[in-house]
Amino acid sequence: GGGGQSRSNPNAAGGGGRRGQGFIPPFVNKALAAQEGAEEPSPFSPKTLEMLADPQTGELPEALQKLDPHILELVCAEVLDSGAGSVAWEDIAGQDPAKRLVQELIVWPMLNPHLFKGARAPPKGLLLFGPPGTGKTLLGKAIASNIRATFFNISASSLTSKWIGEGEKMVRTLFAVAGALQPAVIFIDEIDSILSARKSDGEHEASRRLKTEMLVQMEGCDPSSADRRVLLVGATNRPEELDEAARRRMPKQLYIPLPCADARRALLARHLGTHAGIVSALTAEDSDKLVMRTDGYSGSDMRALIQEACQGPVRDAVAQKGAAVAEIAESDLRPVVLRDFQVAARAQRASVEPAEVVRYEDYDRKHGAQY
Ligand code: ADP
Repeated sequence: GGGGQSRSNPNAAGGGGRRGQGFIPPFVNKALAAQEGAEEPSPFSPKTLEMLADPQTGELPEALQKLDPHILELVCAEVLDSGAGSVAWEDIAGQDPAKRLVQELIVWPMLNPHLFKGARAPPKGLLLFGPPGTGKTLLGKAIASNIRATFFNISASSLTSKWIGEGEKMVRTLFAVAGALQPAVIFIDEIDSILSARKSDGEHEASRRLKTEMLVQMEGCDPSSADRRVLLVGATNRPEELDEAARRRMPKQLYIPLPCADARRALLARHLGTHAGIVSALTAEDSDKLVMRTDGYSGSDMRALIQEACQGPVRDAVAQKGAAVAEIAESDLRPVVLRDFQVAARAQRASVEPAEVVRYEDYDRKHGAQY
């Protein structure tokens, strides 16, 4: 653990920190000074300070000052999703009922908390379940984009493996940072690996503490609160592993299924054509065949299949020109044809077993939000 926390005295720093016209928070000043060797090095990177320090006082919010600076830095560097860009609803193919429900249930209340109180209050947490690669993460990002929230994205298995022993601290710090940067959406992938019911007998002390901390922090999430608008979105492909306590904290459970035929058609259309920089000679009939042939493919399977198929024309051009790859112009490439997909489909098969789908549908009937 980090231990020795160096914090500037807010009074000593108060009012200071002005250099030139721009206001430079004392924390940043300190980091700069440290670089010049004048002071002990700040435990924080300038980027972290810029994100977290109050622009008026230059101090870290009260709630963050007591936290381990090392872990705080980790959360900002690894969990805070700043560069990913925004995701629009249209970027998610299919999943229309889920998109509609999420907008009404979560986005509207977070945009206008005054209207959505009492019986209209949003659920404290949302669970997205279904096979991998169907757009659960995209949906989490779209929620965050729509309410201009800070997006935190962490895989629960990294809390139990990558940061063993620090998991509990990571969780506490993560929720504290989210509270400070609210409105925020915390997306936790593979949430079953922390909150599973099964572990309770032989589980390690550390993983039991991690689970307890997670449940405590989830309890404190409230997307409709005035000053701590934090929404937790959990994702899992093993929803049946969650225990009761976890389900209570994510009262809305949404099934995110494999893309339907129309969604697969939309994915094809999005990636092929001049707008996507790929010339295709697929006829409407070819597309129909492809859509049928890809029944059972997930969104990420589709993407992989399309990428593989689009290599076909390049391979042919290279074969014709010998080794001169660098000399091949875009205009030398033939269009992508159905045959490219047929070849690609041999290597790129559906990753989800039909039996799995049956399992999700079962769970959905029992626990899913019907919409
Ligand atoms: P999940 O979180 O459900 O495992 P992701 O949302 O991370 O899946 O999707 C992985 C990738 O697969 C996305 O980045 C995207 O390229 C593609 N993808 C999956 N589902 C969809 C979808 N419904 N619409 C568009 N792209 C999708």
